[in-house]
Amino acid sequence: MAEERLVDPQFKYRVASRTGGEGLLVCFSCGVCTAGCPVAEIEGNFNPRRIIHQVLLGEKESVLTSKYLWMCVGCYRCTAHCPQDVEFTNILKVLREMAVEEGYVSKEWQEIVEDLDRRTQKLRRDCLNYLFENALFSFPQYLDFYQREIEKLSFSGGGRDNER
Ligand code: SF4
Ligand code: SF4
Repeated sequence: MAEERLVDPQFKYRVASRTGGEGLLVCFSCGVCTAGCPVAEIEGNFNPRRIIHQVLLGEKESVLTSKYLWMCVGCYRCTAHCPQDVEFTNILKVLREMAVEEGYVSKEWQEIVEDLDRRTQKLRRDCLNYLFENALFSFPQYLDFYQREIEKLSFSGGGRDNER
């Protein structure tokens, strides 16, 4: 692979020229996206405003090799609240596509993340169903249930029959 420059001045234009990336150039770094992001709330290093800033600065490698590219859960809250109508959720999808296309991560990695998202949603659905069907409407009951489920969690066992 040819040696990459650390800063790519064309990077932002390439992102902005793709479907979903169009609004990138009008971001004025207000930080509203980060302030309302549920992932940023639990992971202080995930920062949508900073990711956009890095793209605008041309920090292609740093952005496309970052694990934070994969932390977004696609809730679109940032997009809904952005005063400049920047669609950060879609910009992140563009960046993920570019990371795969340019060989920074494998297609398999992308599929693993998508599978993780499906499993997370399934876990949430199952927990909600259980809590509702068993009328566990108080917080202590919920905590007991949650503790039991955490103890049962294992990535080494379990069939694939229950995955969908
Ligand atoms: S809310 Fe919009 S304008 Fe403000 S930093 Fe985020 S993307 Fe940029
Ligand atoms: S779409 Fe992603 S970046 Fe935007 S608020 Fe939701 S989790 Fe955060």
